[in-house]
Amino acid sequence: MRAAILNSPANIAARPLQIGDLPQPEPAPGHVLIRVRACGVCRTDLHIVEGELPQRRSPLVPGHQIVGEIAGGATSDLPTGTRVGVSWIGGTDGTCPYCSRGTENLCDAPDFTGYTVDGGYAEYTVARSDFVVRLPEALDDLHAAPLLCAGIIGFRSLRVAGVEQGENVGLFGFGASAHLAIEVLRAWNCNVYVSTRGESHRRLAASLGADWVGSETDRPPVELDRAVTFAPSGDVVIAALSSLRKGGVVAINAIHLDRIPEFDYDRLLWGERQMRSVANMTRADARDFVQVAAEIGLRPKVTVFPLDHANEALQAVKSDAIDGAAVIKP
Ligand SMILES: [Zn+2]
Ligand SMILES: [Zn+2]
Repeated sequence: MRAAILNSPANIAARPLQIGDLPQPEPAPGHVLIRVRACGVCRTDLHIVEGELPQRRSPLVPGHQIVGEIAGGATSDLPTGTRVGVSWIGGTDGTCPYCSRGTENLCDAPDFTGYTVDGGYAEYTVARSDFVVRLPEALDDLHAAPLLCAGIIGFRSLRVAGVEQGENVGLFGFGASAHLAIEVLRAWNCNVYVSTRGESHRRLAASLGADWVGSETDRPPVELDRAVTFAPSGDVVIAALSSLRKGGVVAINAIHLDRIPEFDYDRLLWGERQMRSVANMTRADARDFVQVAAEIGLRPKVTVFPLDHANEALQAVKSDAIDGAAVIKP
């Protein structure tokens, strides 16, 4: 099969992915073989390919927003031809204290698709049968792919923030996750306040129906019930915190923050305000989100790249050269 293969990470300008042939993978027991129809390109793929995340497997086929159909290892639940999605969480041990508590997103020994196990920049891939999610008819291949990481994570962030129908919600930063989350919020009749840097992001937020748009650390004109921050900046977290009503929640959707600046506890956190981080996702988040996406007709903007142009797709993500998400079609 054709695949984009990473042997050694390098700057994307050096074209670290080699397009070549690999043996078609064999599904082990409890796994399915998937014929890949589309695979979204996530910024995390770039961090893997460029070596910002330590190498965990070599050679590696990246890609963790996979849409495909069952082509082997079929079961009664997943007959041949079933259309499924595979996301970043490729598996958990099911036995650690976190899995036992029903918080598999915090598993001590997870597998990550396209990082610790091969992913979807290929004609075929294998995945754990219990970690694929069936995709509703209403979501077509190319538009479903970008939902499977950015979309699910954005959705989880809304859950972690405790968003309820009709609330005032702030989105601080407006990248891949936020521009999907805003559509969910609008479907839930929330008022959405977007603070973000970059004129193009502000225009996009306005065009997607934000009730108010401001720059990166601007405070919205109302007190927020909930806020989600997407920028890797502690200043942005403090801006979000200082916009909250008593009892409000800030969910921080960032793996890394520069630092949290010193802040005034009495004024900003007292009053049962909360700051929480968002880590990974659960299978329930994935299942629930694809249903919501289908119901509200979520349809991200996509730019399609053939598998041979996987390096170019990552380059485009790095340089923000495309509008919307990049999707590889093998
Ligand atoms: Zn676990
Ligand atoms: Zn991702």
